[in-house]
Amino acid sequence: MPTPPLRILHVEDDPADAELVLRALRRGGLTVAVSRVEDRPGLEEALGESWDAVLVDAHLPELDAGESIALVRARLRDVALLVVSGTVGEETVADLVRRGADDFVPKDRLARLPGALAREMVRAQERAARRAADERAHWLAYHDPLTGLPNRNAMAAFEAAQLAGVAETGFIAVEIREFREINHALGFELGDRVLQELAERARRATPPGCLLARGGGDGFAVLVPEGPATCRQIAQDLLGALANPVEIGGVRLTVAAAAGFAVSPRDGTGVNALRRAAHVAVNASRRSGEALVEFNVTMDTFDPSALALAADLRRAVERGEITLAYQPKVDLASGAFSGAEALARWTHPELGPVPPGRFIPVAERLGDIVPLTRSLVRRALSESRSWLSTHPGTRVAVNLSARLLGRADLVEHLDAALAQAEMPPSCLELEVTESEIMQDPAHAIAVLGELAARGIAVSIDDFGTGYSSLGYLVSLPVSAVKIDQRFVRALPAGRKEALVVRATIELGHGLDLAVIAEGVETAAAAQYLRENGADQAQGWHVARPMPPTQLETWIRARDA
Ligand code: C2E
Ligand code: MG
Ligand code: MG
Repeated sequence: MPTPPLRILHVEDDPADAELVLRALRRGGLTVAVSRVEDRPGLEEALGESWDAVLVDAHLPELDAGESIALVRARLRDVALLVVSGTVGEETVADLVRRGADDFVPKDRLARLPGALAREMVRAQERAARRAADERAHWLAYHDPLTGLPNRNAMAAFEAAQLAGVAETGFIAVEIREFREINHALGFELGDRVLQELAERARRATPPGCLLARGGGDGFAVLVPEGPATCRQIAQDLLGALANPVEIGGVRLTVAAAAGFAVSPRDGTGVNALRRAAHVAVNASRRSGEALVEFNVTMDTFDPSALALAADLRRAVERGEITLAYQPKVDLASGAFSGAEALARWTHPELGPVPPGRFIPVAERLGDIVPLTRSLVRRALSESRSWLSTHPGTRVAVNLSARLLGRADLVEHLDAALAQAEMPPSCLELEVTESEIMQDPAHAIAVLGELAARGIAVSIDDFGTGYSSLGYLVSLPVSAVKIDQRFVRALPAGRKEALVVRATIELGHGLDLAVIAEGVETAAAAQYLRENGADQAQGWHVARPMPPTQLETWIRARDA
């Protein structure tokens, strides 16, 4: 079978010169099919095809050789590329080679051309092969060959490239349970196909902007440049996508998947710390039987940074270095100041500000939560004394941990704090999250009843996130619900969130509870809440949390 002719592209404006080149090639024994172009549009069009070699004249009237070479190299990185031209200086030759020409053959030495061309074509092939091998090696370094998904290295690279400067980053770990059993029952080959099918589904369920990776072993991992609410949503979508039965080789099987997630900076910084925390959460899901678990430090008995933090925290509590920032609540109808929530603040001497979402769980686990809360209640009462006395009916709200709700001596501690501050119980409000109440609802009802009997108000914080049975709400002796930020921040555009907000307002009012919206960030959200009858608003649109003296100034300005 005759070998097909070499396809050669010749950039040359002079037909006579082109003819000479063609003859030289044939004389050298090469079978060639040459296409000639003489200007930029012609060259650009020709570069859409593939060529065995490109010859370029250095002296075209409209297209200089450097430009031609750049155009060729942009499209055909490895093709053999020779400059064939009248005599030019050595410097020009060096320049053309630097720009990507492989060799230079003067027009008065065309006899050299066939040999030079053959040599450069061999070298070009070697270059292409090497580049393909490099690219494959690079790909393998960053991907899992079985599923084609990015691997751990890719996550580190994604972190470096995409996550710098992102406020919150989530890490979702998805575990396919009993995967070994699947491999046993079906054989590795079918097991692999199951995994490929699951990877494809996970890929479709992962929103743009996130990185889905093969998590090592039998799972997946997703990096999310967002906070807990988004992570939870994505994790749920992933679990939903994986839950449908897989049909492979005539077998229909359902895999059991579970997910855990962690978020930085709250749960640690860097992909490695997050991966660890997310896996701690997945393991916790194994114990609790829930399919999706959010990390919290109390799960993590081996977190060395939590232990170090605990020691520092204990000292800070003893020295009274945990301070309070106050975030006002306002009456939506009148705009009047209606109370303030005290939020714990800690500036660690080396780490800087540590968010309460990180250090409160540490205090809960390591036993400092009782003295901490007791001192914060006392501090909140004394720092608010002045506005509490001038604004009857307002209260200062302190957040209460689940651990405290479970303690028999809670009421005693609160009595002591009130007595020490010489303030009546009617000044104090406690915020307890819905999920904390649901950990032991019967007990919570009893404790909250005791607080209510004393005249201490209780509101349910983060309402709508705790998967509570609404039935309990009827029997809870509380005075207010705070609709979680997740819903409020989506107002007014988020249709589903708006529905939850309206339903909560109706529910709350039906049960004679005040309805407070937290996370009110915009005037539009405030307007929506006002129109739909919510009682109070709290959020950045009203004011950010601030030091106690600043709050007094803020209230005075509001009163005026
Ligand atoms: P939380 O009680 O639901 O407090 C609301 C959180 O949302 C606060 O964060 C507040 O700064 C923030 N926030 C307020 N308005 C807006 C807004 O418009 N937009 C956005 N994006 N965020 C807003 P912070 O201070 O970091 O507190 C986080 C959580 O830590 C609190 O949630 C509470 O559960 C807990 N916490 C804070 N202080 C204490 C405390 O003294 N004791 C206990 N047990 N928990 C505390
Ligand atoms: Mg709160
Ligand atoms: Mg809240």
